[in-house]
Order: sequence, then structure tokens, then C-alpha cells
Amino acid sequence: MNLILLGAPGAGKGTQAEVICDNLKIPAISTGNMLREAVKNGTKSGLEAKSFMDSGALVPDEVVIGILKDRIAEDDCKGGFILDGFPRTVPQAEVLDKMGVKIDKVLEIAVEDETITQRLSGRRVCEDCGNSYHIEFKPTKVEGVCDKCGGKTVQRKDDAPETVLSRLKTYHEQTAPLKDFYAAKGLLTTVHGKDTVEETSALVLEALK
Ligand code: AMP
Repeated sequence: MNLILLGAPGAGKGTQAEVICDNLKIPAISTGNMLREAVKNGTKSGLEAKSFMDSGALVPDEVVIGILKDRIAEDDCKGGFILDGFPRTVPQAEVLDKMGVKIDKVLEIAVEDETITQRLSGRRVCEDCGNSYHIEFKPTKVEGVCDKCGGKTVQRKDDAPETVLSRLKTYHEQTAPLKDFYAAKGLLTTVHGKDTVEETSALVLEALK
């Protein structure tokens, strides 16, 4: 199954991608995590992406598409994959179509903007593996230490309140039109994000049956 997760930043795409990955045994691909890794390693793509990411804007399509193409060509994607954070614009979705990537389902996780701003202020991510936590709703077992790999958990620079507002604006202007794009193809299912990870996961897994 090739699956796309749609939703505003902080809607829970990364967390639910992990749950689906465990259930369906297909890899979760986060373009955001790959870009952050590229920035950390100072690669060419990372250098191109950094200023856009820091300001809450989208990274130019050619940079993201290059990274995505390489990733889905890897062996572990042969049996399907979950895209978290891609496509982010209609032109990116059209590129997927042109690449001949068949999408089986697009799952939107809908969450109110007000909830998003509250959630992002408590979000922490692992510096090493990118796994996502929340100080209240999904805390690490040991404070500041990633449950999955033992790396250090930190607040993302772009989770600062002023950047969150521009990321939400970007989402509504550039990414939300993908809902109509995929609804027109009969692929869109919407799940309303709940207060707890478990409640949302139950809805997500149900929607994938
Ligand atoms: P995320 O971790 O998905 O919230 O992504 C963090 C940042 O990476 C976004 O605010 C964008 O600057 C950039 N980014 C991630 N995925 C994409 C994409 N598909 N297209 C453009 N920029 C992206």
C-alpha cells in the first residue's frame, strides 16, 4: 500500500506514520526529517533548504523531489510506503503522478489551528532519529532522552510560535488544496485528530482497513 498522510504541521502525521509503519510493516518517509538530516550534515540540499525551513516556508520543489525520488527507489519501499509531509503542493502531487507512483489512499488528519499552536509548543523531537514526542501527551520515558534510539530530544527551531503561524498559513495556502486534488480522484479519507495518540491511532487504523 502506498499511502499519503495529509495534515497541518503538528496534526500528528509523524506519530501516526510510526503507528501505521508498525502495523503494516511499510516504511514511513518524512521529507521534513530527511531535510533536517541534510541540514545537519551540511549537504548541498541541506544548504539550499535551511533558510526556507527556518522561516516556515516550503523548500523549493526541485530540492524536495530529488530527495524523495532517491528515497522511494530504495529496496525497503518495494512493498509500499507512507509519505509524511510529501506532497505539500499540487505540483508535487503531479510529479508523483508523472513518476508513475500509484497512490492507494490519502489520509487527512484534521486538527483545528488553535489546537495545533498549543501542541507545537510542547513538541520535542529526537536530534538523531527524528522521532517525535510531546511533553504532556506523549512524553519520553526518561526526560530529554529518545525512547527509540537514546538520542537527545530538543525543540525544533521552527516550532517557535512566530514560525508556527507562518507554517499554518503556508499549509492553508499551498497544501490544503491537495484535499480537493485527491478527493477528486476518490482517494481522500479524513480522520479527526483526537486529544490522545491512542484515540487517533484507532481511527487511523480503522480508516485503513
Ligand atoms: P515537517 O517536518 O514535515 O513539518 O517539515 C519541516 C519543513 O521542511 C517544512 O516547514 C518545509 O520547510 C520543509 N518541507 C518538508 N517537506 C516538504 C515538502 N514536501 N515540500 C517543501 N518543503 C518541505
